[in-house]
Amino acid sequence: MASDTTEQEIRLGISTCLLGEAVRFDGGHKRDRYVVDTLGAYFRFVPVCPEVEVGMTIPREAVRLVRSGGEIRMLGRTSETDHTAKMNVYAKRRVAALRKLNLSGYILKKGSPSCGMERVRIYTDKGMPVSSGPGLFASALMEEMPLLPVEEEGRLSDAALRENFIVRVFAYHRLRALFEGRWKLSELVAFQAREKLLLMAHAPAAQKQLGRIVADSRELGRVQTREQYSAGFMAALAKPAKRQRHTNALQHMLGYFRKLLSAAERSEIAMVVEDFHAGLVPLIVPITLVRHYVRLHDVEYLSGQTYLEPHPKELALRNHV
Ligand code: SF4
Repeated sequence: MASDTTEQEIRLGISTCLLGEAVRFDGGHKRDRYVVDTLGAYFRFVPVCPEVEVGMTIPREAVRLVRSGGEIRMLGRTSETDHTAKMNVYAKRRVAALRKLNLSGYILKKGSPSCGMERVRIYTDKGMPVSSGPGLFASALMEEMPLLPVEEEGRLSDAALRENFIVRVFAYHRLRALFEGRWKLSELVAFQAREKLLLMAHAPAAQKQLGRIVADSRELGRVQTREQYSAGFMAALAKPAKRQRHTNALQHMLGYFRKLLSAAERSEIAMVVEDFHAGLVPLIVPITLVRHYVRLHDVEYLSGQTYLEPHPKELALRNHV
């Protein structure tokens, strides 16, 4: 399999049962329509079912997480068969193999003792729920690939979380394409310039901090620059882009039209931005208007901004935020 991130294909790891494959403990599946029918048109899925891959049968006894002697163990619900060591060894090996596939994101099955991203119930050995945390495989995945955008299928039904996840997936793909091979400082400078407004909409302080990393890159050296920039970039985009910050980014863009548009045209955009700020129209409305004028007047700096189209418009993610 090719592993070049500059290719068009964007790969997402996924819990196999979400694709409709009958791999669950009860012989069923958890096909997610949005994931399969909508996201499936844009991403290539890499399915992983940790329980089946570790050798458990279909159907099988359900497992749960149990806190025992300061450790989290994965035990059969009735038999208390201990799957912990096998699962941990498998997870380490499988995650190492996944690293080589250049994934740009991962969709996990909510609530699973293997795949759950968070809030998976953890029980006492007497069977009482005491706390919660990630499933064993998910925990290894997130520890080994801390920058990888990870989300659960349940949370993707929330418009803001969904938009944020897809923004991060495309951004991570761009980031890895940038740092693949022997990147030049001029490419990083151009990248930071293109991402400026997207970063402003998510985390303005981080956008400035990233600018400082770029400016200091000669002193930092290549490895430190890449690591610090990558961590800062993904952390910034993980912060939700609030309405006020979108408004600031949109108003910032308006400044570029000062000499190009008539007062009436500028006031039309300003009014639409105000409507968005007041929650009367979704983000796609001011964005569409701005894009129209950017195209019309060929505003080079703005036309290169990923903020204007951080993901395919057909996904309609900005129609609901
Ligand atoms: S949640 Fe994970 S372990 Fe469970 S069936 Fe789905 S893919 Fe397999």
